[in-house]
Parts: sequence; structure tokens; C-alpha cells
Amino acid sequence: MNRHLVSIEDLGRADIERILDRAESFAEVSGREIKKVPALRGRTIVNLFYEASTRTSSSFELAAKRLSADVVSIRSAGSSVDKGESLRDTVQTLSAYDPAAIVIRSPHAGAARLVAGWTEASVINAGDGKHEHPTQALLDVFTLRRRLGSIDGTNIWIVGDVLHSRVARSDIQAFRRMGATVTVCGPPTLLPRQIETLGCAATPSLDGLEAADVVYVLRMQRERMQDAYVPSLREYAERYQIGASRLRPGQLLMHPGPVNRGVELSADAIDSPQALIGEQVKSGVAVRMAVLYELLAGSPVLQAVA
Ligand code: ASP
Repeated sequence: MNRHLVSIEDLGRADIERILDRAESFAEVSGREIKKVPALRGRTIVNLFYEASTRTSSSFELAAKRLSADVVSIRSAGSSVDKGESLRDTVQTLSAYDPAAIVIRSPHAGAARLVAGWTEASVINAGDGKHEHPTQALLDVFTLRRRLGSIDGTNIWIVGDVLHSRVARSDIQAFRRMGATVTVCGPPTLLPRQIETLGCAATPSLDGLEAADVVYVLRMQRERMQDAYVPSLREYAERYQIGASRLRPGQLLMHPGPVNRGVELSADAIDSPQALIGEQVKSGVAVRMAVLYELLAGSPVLQAVA
């Protein structure tokens, strides 16, 4: 496997399966009273978050701590980034601590790839603009594999604001690589042109949703919308909101969070037993432990969890 994790494109199916198997061992560690293994003792991990985050930042921090690494977490607000320091200067400054890994979240597509060119550390993309969010895709695959046993042959629909979604771009590739068929669905203005080149089908209509085994709903990313992509959120909700009544029994519901309650999902769907949203968050720690371990330690996981 590559030294960095910037895009799902960099991972073959065997790489994904290896990370998921490792994540299973780390999920076991997370179930213990003392949730810590010495695998990365003495290594330094820098979390650099230039954009809002709750789940991703907290789970990367916990993952690093559970592997016994020293962790420095920097958010743009309150850091020298606020004072106008460039990304390159910040990365060079932090490189003085000789970090083993830099985890970066940025509003700019391509930022993680750039950082990888400026540092000796392993770089992990924790979301770069509309481009990719590979660890989200890995935790989604992990959550589904745990629930279904295998993703091969699964029919997955991704519904909502596909245009602004790095999660969609990473998920489509990861789900396809694991043997699923993927359909993206949303208002035509929120479906990127040529999205089918990623190997999925695209439709503006929810007709046919009942055939899906998994309905993966995306957040309406209003902070990334300069123009009006839909007439109003109320109309969007009428047409595309997934409520319990739109789900057939047995279908699984996923969402990367944060959820706009009452916009893309209704409260009854969020709280239904078909929803895996809590499971996804829980998977985040074990999967990010596995990614850090795989990139930085790379020796048999059993040694680490012994
Ligand atoms: N939390 C995910 C992300 O950072 C999804 C979202 O924000 O809607 O991309």
C-alpha cells in the first residue's frame, strides 16, 4: 500500500479488505475496558483541520490515542492560519516536530495531495473540498460488511446533493470495488455531469428505490452552494427527503453526518431501527486506527492487539 491515503483510487480491493480486517481487531480493542494498544508509542500524529468537523476530527484523535501515539490537533480558527500563514508554511512548521503522519481536512480539492509533496510524513486525507473523503468510505464499507457479511452483489442508492459530496465520490468507488452496484439520485442540478464515469448509474427520480438494499442519504451542503441549486429546501424535502414511509422493510439507511433533520432525512427515518448512522460513527474509530496502523506500523496486527 501507498505511504499516503489521499484517494480511494489508490486502494485495490485487497488493500481495502486488509484494512477492514485490521479494523475488526481494533473494534475488539475498543470494546475493552482499557482501550489502548502500544502500536504507535513514541510516534507523533498531527491533525490539521481547516474546516468544521465533529466526527472525523474526534475519531482521528481517539484512534491515534488508542494506538498510544502523541497527538497534536490544530484547527484553523485560533491557529496561525487565521493570521494568514499559508498551508505550505504551516506544514513546514509542523514538520519540525517530525510527525509520522499528518491528517488533513481542507475546503480545497487537492490539498491533501499537495501536502504529501511537502512533508516526509504519511498524509491522510480527512476530506478535501468536493474531492474525496477516503476514510469515510472505508468506515461505510466496514459498517456494511459487518451488517451484511459481504457487499458483493449489493444494490446501493446514494441520494441527495451528490455534486458537493466528497463522500459520494469516495463511496461510489469503494462500494464498486467491493462488488456493489451503485446508483446516484438527486435533482439534476445536484448530479455532477459524467458521474457515470465512476461506474455508477445516475437518475433524478426515486422510482426504483425499493430495489435498493442500502439507501445512503447525503447532506444538503448549503455552505458549498453559491447559487440556488433547488427552488427551496421545502421543495427539495418534498421530492427527495427519505422518511420511514419511503423505506421498504429490510432496507438499510446510512448517512455520513451531520444530518439536516427534516431536510434530507425525516426524524422517523433517523430514529428507525433500519438506520446505521450510529454504527457508522462507531466504526470510524476502529477504521481510522486501522488506517494509521497500516500506514505507520505495517507489521502484523495481531502483534499490536496482543
Ligand atoms: N461529514 C462529511 C464530510 O465532511 C459529510 C458532510 O459534511 O455532509 O464530507
